[in-house]
Amino acid sequence: MSINLQTPIDYLKGVGPNRADLLRKELGIHTYQDLINLFPNRYLDRTQYYKINQLQRNAAEIQVIGKITKFEEVAQKRGKRLVATFKDETGTMELVWFRGQKWIRESLKLNTPYVIFGKTNWFNGKFNMPHPEIELLTEHQANLRSAMQAIYPSTEKLSNKGISNRVMTKIMQNLFLETKGKFAETLSEKLLSENKLISKSEALFNIHFPKDQEALSKAQFRLKFEELFYIQLQLILKNLIHKTKIKGFPFEKVGEHFNQFFKHHLPFELTNAQKRVIKEIRHDLGSNAQMNRLLQGDVGSGKTIVALMSILIALDNGFQACLMAPTEILSVQHYNRLIELCNNLNISIKLLTGSSKASERKEIHEQLENGELNLLIGTHALLEDKVKFKNLGLAIIDEQHRFGVKQRAKLWKKNTFPPHVLVMTATPIPRTLAMSVYGDLDISIIDELPPGRKAIKTVHRYDSNRLKVFRFIRDEIAKGRQVYIVYPLIQESAQMDYKDLMDGYESLSREFPMPNYQISIVHGKMKPADKEFEMQRFVKGETNIMVATTVIEVGVNVPNASVMVIESAERFGLAQLHQLRGRVGRGAEQSYCILMTSHKLSENSKTRIETMVRTNDGFEIAEVDLKLRGPGDIMGTQQSGILNLRIADIIKDNHILQHARYWAKQILDKDPSLGHPENAIILDTYRQMSKYKNIWNYIS
Ligand code: ADP
Ligand code: MG
Repeated sequence: MSINLQTPIDYLKGVGPNRADLLRKELGIHTYQDLINLFPNRYLDRTQYYKINQLQRNAAEIQVIGKITKFEEVAQKRGKRLVATFKDETGTMELVWFRGQKWIRESLKLNTPYVIFGKTNWFNGKFNMPHPEIELLTEHQANLRSAMQAIYPSTEKLSNKGISNRVMTKIMQNLFLETKGKFAETLSEKLLSENKLISKSEALFNIHFPKDQEALSKAQFRLKFEELFYIQLQLILKNLIHKTKIKGFPFEKVGEHFNQFFKHHLPFELTNAQKRVIKEIRHDLGSNAQMNRLLQGDVGSGKTIVALMSILIALDNGFQACLMAPTEILSVQHYNRLIELCNNLNISIKLLTGSSKASERKEIHEQLENGELNLLIGTHALLEDKVKFKNLGLAIIDEQHRFGVKQRAKLWKKNTFPPHVLVMTATPIPRTLAMSVYGDLDISIIDELPPGRKAIKTVHRYDSNRLKVFRFIRDEIAKGRQVYIVYPLIQESAQMDYKDLMDGYESLSREFPMPNYQISIVHGKMKPADKEFEMQRFVKGETNIMVATTVIEVGVNVPNASVMVIESAERFGLAQLHQLRGRVGRGAEQSYCILMTSHKLSENSKTRIETMVRTNDGFEIAEVDLKLRGPGDIMGTQQSGILNLRIADIIKDNHILQHARYWAKQILDKDPSLGHPENAIILDTYRQMSKYKNIWNYIS
């Protein structure tokens, strides 16, 4: 153990200053430790040798033992190629080189057993292997290299400068020789034995030089477990520290506003899920620690009332509250809804958005600071420095994926103590992902829709069936319903999208002419006031059809709207489609979602459309979405570090994740400070890890 793994890579045999420089620049490898944690991308199984008569035309990478019987230079359009005839006892094939021919000819011996390795091609009735890896059979047998060959991440520059996979393997071998393959353990005895994990040293050896598939699997399991375990440990610890260190305002009582509202003004019976979630929130607010809670509930599940009741608790305890939404339309809607709900309560509520007038702003600023204003609703205008609360006790953020973590933190700074924070999202995050991404937040889930809702019927129609769709719309309007027709708006082709929208609007106007029909249109290029005007016409039922781009994606509530037509549905992501569909099905009527597409659909689009037709369950949709897109595009993952995983895969290795989280919890439950001798290794590893961004930068 005398070798220090922080030693710069320059000092490793076979590296030297030039290669060290390349390794640093291309792969971020600075030290021995970085190198040891450069895990292979894939492995070539070299445990088998093929005979030439067994070769298949499948371009697999395989190895063959045989002899070169002759060399031949073949002229071609540009330059020439070197062709060797290669034979074993079953047949003949060719080896081909387009470069480095002189060196090859001089160094390779005729009629001597070699092992060749590479991809085979079928050409002119023969198998050939271009630029094979080639090695004398005697050397091959003597080599320390394992039977399965690791393939390391590389870059064009690295291979151009001669750092081939072979060189990487050689360098890695040198590292193991120098360190004697002994690395400090980073998991406790107990974790190792309870989970039947192999030791660190064994795992590292077998991840780089596995002798067979089984050894590799064990090594991978151990390292994946370790990676996920420390991430979970970190998340759970953050949460614990949060609870013990960050004082919140204890909202001790449930008072006048809450009780009055609950007893007399509740417009409907709460669902069990709503009751449960309100209880969870009340519990948090009543404790000494700052609440940091994520409220997940599908569109239409009734998050607003939960928000309001939380706000009432804050007010009852003499604090102010704010509710922030990502768009102007949504803030206005929240404002109107809450004003209506609080009609009989003595509460002062104001709205602040980008289009608030200077005089209104001034008044709001004053009333906030002197405490006259109880509840402020608005867009991110709330985050401006001028907005200062007298005593902000609760901040609620709706549709949080539109706001970054930094913005969340900004709200905190508005007080000496951070206010309690409730983040509401309608984008269901698969439970497993939520756990690893938002593991430092507490999570409440409303998994029940208000009673009497009929499941939305979703169908897929091709553009060629448009006339039928129009007929259907006409029938629904005749029944008094309202209809959304949504067009995609995707930044790269905004100009074209805009044209599509306008063309669509025109043809609709012909199909549904005034005065029998009224159509609203809302899109991103309109002034907020005009948008608001058009929205309000639709909300009040003055118009039958709302033509829009995705501005209505978030949160608009028009219970009488029962049909959602999504144009070019193949261009929307699943999360978006689900959000849009959630705009209907809010009243008692049967609602419909019609997904219009062209006939040309990619596999991916097909899966999305089929999923939408099959299910209304947001969590199921989120799981499919996660599989289609990977975690990179799912909200919140960017900040979480979950994407920097070195070896584990958040989706494929989900069972290991669950396992790792279970153990992290177990350990912290019993020993929250990790002070127990049994956990010394974990504490030590964790401390080192905290110094680095990526957990693999610390090991040993
Ligand atoms: P979201 O979770 O999408 O924000 P909302 O809070 O806007 O959902 O609620 C959707 C609709 O359901 C609203 O019209 C609301 O009044 C109604 N609603 C909410 N909870 C209930 C309930 N328990 N019973 C009946 N209707 C409810
Ligand atoms: Mg909502």
